[in-house]
Amino acid sequence: MTGDFATLTIGVLALQGAFAEHVAALRRLGAEAREVRRPAELEGLDGLIIPGGESTAIGKLLVDFDLLEPLRRLVAGGLPIYGTCAGTILLARDIGGLDQPLLGTMDLQVERNAFGRQLQSFETDLQIHSLGDEPFRAIFIRAPAIRAVGAGVEPLARLDDGTIVAARQGSLLVSCFHPELSGDDRFHRYFLEAVRTAHDEHAKGEPTAVIA
Ligand code: GLN
Repeated sequence: MTGDFATLTIGVLALQGAFAEHVAALRRLGAEAREVRRPAELEGLDGLIIPGGESTAIGKLLVDFDLLEPLRRLVAGGLPIYGTCAGTILLARDIGGLDQPLLGTMDLQVERNAFGRQLQSFETDLQIHSLGDEPFRAIFIRAPAIRAVGAGVEPLARLDDGTIVAARQGSLLVSCFHPELSGDDRFHRYFLEAVRTAHDEHAKGEPTAVIA
C-alpha cells in the first residue's frame, strides 16, 4: 500500500530553518502540506515535521509563539511527528542537561553538534533497511548524534562506527541528517506511511486529537 497520501494533512513547523524543502517533498508525494507558525494552524493535522535549523532558536520561538504546550498535548495524544536534525534535538528527552526549551517526548539521549569542527557537514551513504536495499544519501549539517535510546525506541540507521542517526518510537521519527536536501523522498514516504497507519487507527474509533 503506497502512493496515496492525498487524505493526509501534514504540518511543517515554519519558525526557522529548512522548512520549505519539507513542504516540497510532502507535496511531491501527494500529501497536503501546511506551514505552521501559529497554534490555530495545528488544528486538524495528521502529522507534523520539525525541520532542521537551530534548535535553540526554534525552541525559543515555540515558546514565544505559544506553540510548545499545544504541541506537547498533541504528541501526548498520539500525533505523529518527524524531527530532522534540530527536530531530533527538540524531540529528545535528554540533551545532556543543556538549558533550552524542548518537547522532550522521545526516549533519546542526544548530543548536539556531535561531529566536531572538522566534520561539521558531511555526506554519506547509509544502509537503511526500512527504506529498502538502495543506500540513502544522508546529508549532515552541524548534526546531533543519538548516543542512547530507551527500550521502546527502534534505531533505523547507524554510521559505520555504530552511532545511531535515525530512530523511531511508535509514530515519532527522527533523523540526524536532512533527507529533504537529498532529493530522495523515501524517508518522507516512510513517515507518511506511519502517519497513515495512525490515521487509520483513529478512524477506527479513537477520538481525533483536539487542541484544548
Ligand atoms: N546544530 C544545530 C543545533 O544544535 C542543528 C543543525 C541542523 O538542524 N542542521 O540545533
